[in-house]
Amino acid sequence: MKLDPIATQSDRHERQLRAYEDTYRKLAAQLAEVGFIWPGTVVRQRLTCGKSRCACHDDEQRRHGPYVYWTTKVKGRTVSRRLGPKEAELITQWIQNRRQLDQTQRRMRAVSEKVAALLLRTAKPGRAPADG
Ligand SMILES: [Zn+2]
Repeated sequence: MKLDPIATQSDRHERQLRAYEDTYRKLAAQLAEVGFIWPGTVVRQRLTCGKSRCACHDDEQRRHGPYVYWTTKVKGRTVSRRLGPKEAELITQWIQNRRQLDQTQRRMRAVSEKVAALLLRTAKPGRAPADG
């Protein structure tokens, strides 16, 4: 039985650390499972045409489409390309995969920050990292 409060605190930190490591391993395993990825976003738009008498101008329900566009930034400029049905399906899925990947990475960073806080808080005082 440990009555020493410092030892008890240290045990708690150890358990917490192992829990974070466990979470991190599971997130890292998700990275290995990720499918193909694609940049940018897919948008679906229903458009009006150039014919002034066409019903699409009066009734939003009668607009043409939906047309599917893929949009991304290239060297700071937004570029857009219309997609066919097969492309739209594939790219939509791959973009979804990329977002899942991004989310997993954000979670890994969040866990890393908690681990860093835990490790640095429990570090012995007076042992600052050496400069340079
Ligand atoms: Zn029209």
